[in-house]
Amino acid sequence: MKTIKTLFTLLLIIPFLSCKNDTPSNGKLNVVTTTSMITDLVKNIGGNHINLKGLMGSGVDPHLYKASEGDVTKLVNADIIFYNGLHLEGKLVEVFEKMGSQTKTPIALGEELDKNTLIGSDYFASNYDPHVWFNIDYFMQFAEKVTQVLIEKDPENEDHYTSNHTSYINKLVALQTKLEGIIETLPKEKRVLVTAHDAFNYFGKAYGFEVVGLQGLSTATEAGVQDVQKLSTFIIEKNIKAIFVESSVPKRTIEALKAAVKSKGHDVSIGGTLYSDALGNAGTIEGTYIGMFEYNVNTIVNALK
Ligand code: ZN
Repeated sequence: MKTIKTLFTLLLIIPFLSCKNDTPSNGKLNVVTTTSMITDLVKNIGGNHINLKGLMGSGVDPHLYKASEGDVTKLVNADIIFYNGLHLEGKLVEVFEKMGSQTKTPIALGEELDKNTLIGSDYFASNYDPHVWFNIDYFMQFAEKVTQVLIEKDPENEDHYTSNHTSYINKLVALQTKLEGIIETLPKEKRVLVTAHDAFNYFGKAYGFEVVGLQGLSTATEAGVQDVQKLSTFIIEKNIKAIFVESSVPKRTIEALKAAVKSKGHDVSIGGTLYSDALGNAGTIEGTYIGMFEYNVNTIVNALK
């Protein structure tokens, strides 16, 4: 009902704003982003030359997130909207589609990637696993697209965007090297990652981990008793030391899995909380994409060693 009401509000507001052009207001572009990973990326490139509003904070699950009326106002007033796409933001798709056809085209960064390289999935209407930010190369392509769009809409600040882009890419390259060094310390046979939902397939592909998510790709489907039983057997057979909670998914499913392993006379520890579909709190190390990635890798490697 809420979604219908939100959509209705959107349809009412749009005709009055459709004559709005793309020139920056108060000298700065109004940019709206969805997930905290994309917000952090756009902040790094736009710096203080843009007004940036991120819709989803720390701990927010993008699969389940619904636009509030306040969000709709932000979206309607935006000069640019960046989102992940590939049906990650499952409940926002309708809102974006409506906006795309009537006023502006929100930019789905994930849709810009080469589809032939993406991991397929039957869970999502996009047919692809949307958790692409766990491949740093893809995140660099996000950065490229964001820079290009900011320059297109605000050419006066081209030099700033270009230099911010270069310095951010350099940081991502350094991150990549650092992570590879940390992961090398974990023997290949210990690279099995069991988490609450399947957010880490791209991570697994990039760093040679077998990845199993208890809830499947989207948190919209709950894990069943059978899934828990099957996965507990897998953990025992593979002699896995630790499994992981995710900050944006309730802990109870992973706790149920730990209990199922225990009921079969074995022990598996909870290796820590990973940041999957949302960054940590703003102002903390895990509150940035780079800090989050390093934190996750350290947590995984330390617990599985
Ligand atoms: Zn997810």
